[in-house]
Amino acid sequence: MKPSYDVIVIGGGPSGMMAAGRAGELGARVFLIEKNDRLGKKLSITGGRRCNITNAEFDNRIFLDHFPEAKHFLFSPFSKHNVENTFEFFEGRGLPLMIEDRKRAFPQSERAEDVCCVLETYIEESGNVDVKLDAAFVSFIVRDKKIVGVKTSNGTFLASKVILATGGLAAPETGSTGEGLSALEEIGHTVAKPDANLVPLKTNAPWVHELSGLSIDEMTIRYLQENKTKLKLRGRLLFTHFGISGPLVINSAYQVKQLLKKGPVTASIDLFPDHDLKQLDQFFIKLFETEKQKLVKTILKELMQKKLGETVLEIADLPIADTLANAVTKDERKRLVHTLKDLSFPITGTMGLDWSIVADGGVIPTEVDFKTMTSRLYPNLYLIGDTLNINRPSGGFSLQLCWTTGWVAGTHASQSN
Ligand SMILES: Cc1cc2nc3c(=O)[nH]c(=O)nc-3n(C[C@H](O)[C@H](O)[C@H](O)COP(=O)(O)OP(=O)(O)OC[C@H]3O[C@@H](n4cnc5c(N)ncnc54)[C@H](O)[C@@H]3O)c2cc1C
Repeated sequence: MKPSYDVIVIGGGPSGMMAAGRAGELGARVFLIEKNDRLGKKLSITGGRRCNITNAEFDNRIFLDHFPEAKHFLFSPFSKHNVENTFEFFEGRGLPLMIEDRKRAFPQSERAEDVCCVLETYIEESGNVDVKLDAAFVSFIVRDKKIVGVKTSNGTFLASKVILATGGLAAPETGSTGEGLSALEEIGHTVAKPDANLVPLKTNAPWVHELSGLSIDEMTIRYLQENKTKLKLRGRLLFTHFGISGPLVINSAYQVKQLLKKGPVTASIDLFPDHDLKQLDQFFIKLFETEKQKLVKTILKELMQKKLGETVLEIADLPIADTLANAVTKDERKRLVHTLKDLSFPITGTMGLDWSIVADGGVIPTEVDFKTMTSRLYPNLYLIGDTLNINRPSGGFSLQLCWTTGWVAGTHASQSN
C-alpha cells in the first residue's frame, strides 16, 4: 500500500503543532492526529493561562546550562532553532512578547490561547496539513524494522515518516496519558519511568494545611536529612491545603524526591533569613523595649501576616498573644526567636503526576539522534517535546524545548527521503 501522507504527526500539543506546521510549510503532506476535540489543550493552561512561552536567554550556552544532564545532546538542535527564533516566530506572526523576572517571556496579550491561535494559523496557512481531532493513536505499524504507519481509533494511516509528540504524563487530564510512551516500549525503545518532577510538595503537618493560600515573599527553606542540611533555597513560598508550592518549591521537587528515596526529609523555614539567631534575639529585645505597651500579637502582626504570627506562637507553644511585650520572659522570647528561624515540618512526598508541570520519564536521550530528532532504532520515527526524558526547571524551558525539537523534526521530516 502506498503511504497516503509524507508525515504523520501524533499529538497536537506545542511540539506536534510546531512540527506539523513546519513540515507543511516546507511542502510535505502532513496528517496531524490529536485525541482531544481541540489542539493545544495543555498549552492553553500554561503559565497560569498566560503561557511562559520561552526564557529570554539568547546565548545558547547559558540557556542550555539549565539542562545539566542533557545539554550536550541539545547543542545541535539549538544551533538550528533557538530562543531568538522563537521570538522571531511569534512576534513575526503578530504576537509580541514581553520579558518578566527570571527572563521569563510571555505574550504581551497574556493569553496562552493566543499562542495556540498562532500555531493553528501556521498549520492552516501551509494548506498541507490535515488535522484529525478525536482520533487516538494506538500503535505503530512496523515492517522490516521501519515504521510504515499508525493504528488509531479511527483506522490505519500510512506515511513515510512519523513524528511522535504525545507528551509525557504531567497533567493527564489534558490528554497526556502515556500511550505514546507505551507504544515506544512495544517497539523496543527504552522509556524511563514517568514520575512527577516540577511539582508541589506534600506534608502531613496540619498547621501547614491551615495556612493554605498564604504566601511568604522572602524566606529561606532548608531540606534536611538526618539533621543535615541537604538543600537551601531563598525566595517566595506558598502554603497550600496539602503542603507547599510556588516556583521555588516546584523547582526543588526533583532534588527533594531524590532525597526522599534515601529516607525521611524535613523542611525548615526561616522567616528572618537576614538575621542569625543572636541578631534576631537582639532585634526582639529592642523591639519589646520600644513597643513595651503593645501586645505580642500586635507586634507580630506588624512583622508578618496575622495568621502566620498566630501559627508561630502555636508551634512554639507560647500562649503569649495577649501578653504585653514588657511581660514576655527571656525564655519565651528565645523560644519565639527559635521558631521564627526554624518552622519545621516533614515532607511526605510530591503531589504526583496530576499536579506536575513536567514529568520525568520518556525516551532516554541516547536513543535519539538530536541532529534530526530521529530515533536511533527507527530512522523514520521522530521523537520530540515531552516524549523525551530531559530534566529542566520551570521558566519557559519546557516550551522552548518543544519549539526547538518540533521545528528540527518538522524540517528534517519534510526534507529527507
Ligand atoms: C499546568 C501546567 C503549566 C505549564 N506551564 C508552562 C509554562 O508556562 N512554560 C513552559 O515552558 N512549560 C509549561 N508547562 C510544561 C509544558 O506545558 C509541556 O512541557 C508541554 O506542553 C509539552 O508539550 P508536548 O507537545 O510535548 O506535549 P503535550 O502538551 O502534553 O501535548 C501532547 C498532545 O498529544 C495528545 N495525545 C496524547 N496521547 C495521544 C494519543 N494516543 N493519540 C492522539 N493524541 C494523543 C494529547 O492530547 C496532547 O494534546 C506547563 C505544564 C502544566 C501541566
